[in-house]
Amino acid sequence: MAAKGDGVLSAGYRVGQGFDIHRLAPGRKLILGGIHIPHETGLSGHSDADVLLHALMNAVLGAIGKGDIGTHFPDTDPEFRGVSSASLLGHVLRLMRQAGFGIVNVDVTVIAERPRLAPHFGAVRTRLADLLEVPEDAVNLKAGTMEGLGPIGEGQAMAAMAVMLLKGA
Ligand code: MG
Repeated sequence: MAAKGDGVLSAGYRVGQGFDIHRLAPGRKLILGGIHIPHETGLSGHSDADVLLHALMNAVLGAIGKGDIGTHFPDTDPEFRGVSSASLLGHVLRLMRQAGFGIVNVDVTVIAERPRLAPHFGAVRTRLADLLEVPEDAVNLKAGTMEGLGPIGEGQAMAAMAVMLLKGA
């Protein structure tokens, strides 16, 4: 068994979960899962605010025991202003491979009142499989609403949750 703090993850399976929420604001492009979805508001944030990819990155970092995206890509750092979350995901995936892990599957839930996401999920799934370098059947997407309740229900924000299973190479 690996000793605490030796920096080497034991082989086998690792699970990680991630969550993120961003405000929706006028004058922003809605980028979700690396795809532009036409809508009257978009996610606001320091980067492109892709809430789905942020939840995914948090799941990867959780599985490899490397904290969260806030510590890797601080929103006080001008380097990350307006940056594509797909490129940040590339960095996180390199950390995952350096730790000796590959992706088994990922399951994502996006919570939004509007727009209706299901019609876009085919394209998002293809894009995610491409970014993660896994077959499409390793990627599952679900959409939910808040039944009109709270800030997400009122269309002021969008949230995403992700669970990812990794396997040691
Ligand atoms: Mg975020």
